Amino acid sequence: MTGPTPRYRRILLKLSGEALQGDRGHGIDAAVLRAVAEEIHEVVALGVHVGVVIGAGNIFRGVSAAADGMDRAMADSMGMLGTVINSLALEDALRHAGVKARVMSAIPMKTVCDTYAQRLAVQHLEEGEVVILAAGTGNPYFTTDTAGALRALEIGAEVMLKATKVDGCYDKDPAKHPDAVRFSTLTYMEVLARGLQVMDSTATSLCKDNDLPIIVFNLRTQGNIRRVVLGEPVGTLVSNQRTTTTTTTTGAR
Ligand code: UDP
Repeated sequence: MTGPTPRYRRILLKLSGEALQGDRGHGIDAAVLRAVAEEIHEVVALGVHVGVVIGAGNIFRGVSAAADGMDRAMADSMGMLGTVINSLALEDALRHAGVKARVMSAIPMKTVCDTYAQRLAVQHLEEGEVVILAAGTGNPYFTTDTAGALRALEIGAEVMLKATKVDGCYDKDPAKHPDAVRFSTLTYMEVLARGLQVMDSTATSLCKDNDLPIIVFNLRTQGNIRRVVLGEPVGTLVSNQRTTTTTTTTGAR
């Protein structure tokens, strides 16, 4: 039996911590987690190798705690531990969905999960496992967007899929401005020069310097991960080339 041919054979899916909290405002929403696991299942079934990096904005962000007076490096360690909590939750949900998955943490905690090692991560991907790359880069002063870009390059992913709560990248915040316009494509330079909130500048620069395309898309639209993997024009593609100047107003997928 032949199914659709995926556009990408290996992807890095970056999920924000907030993506897992649903409408709860904090923590992990079990129904959202199950839905994400099912969507990942769909692309694994297409034969795609999937690496995942998850944030911890639903639990703890180092920069916010540092603003309240906490030592930044200590606060970032807490943030990184938050990503491990989210990663273990996703591993559990994937296993319940019948998908082989394992967490590999940049901070060793061998009684809880594997320690990240690039060659082992690639080996597990080649064996068809979903590899969840936890604890960010393992260093303070970085974000999980940068960790996502770094791990995407290390595992040889062809693209980083950045799942968000909005339909892509806009010229202004679509939650506040109904006339916000969504870009279908952008260059890294445009993102950096216009200060667009796609990702932090460290993450964007890493992608730019290594020619790693980013697709920003809405995780809340069911089936979007599969659509992106199949090459459908979903969200905003950020790369070194602006392939089209088409823009779409708020509400379009
Ligand atoms: N973090 C870190 N180093 C990293 C990645 C993350 O110190 O390489 C910490 C940092 O405190 C950050 C927190 O982990 O605020 C959660 O990551 P992030 O803010 O990127 O989560 P998201 O916004 O994607 O939910």
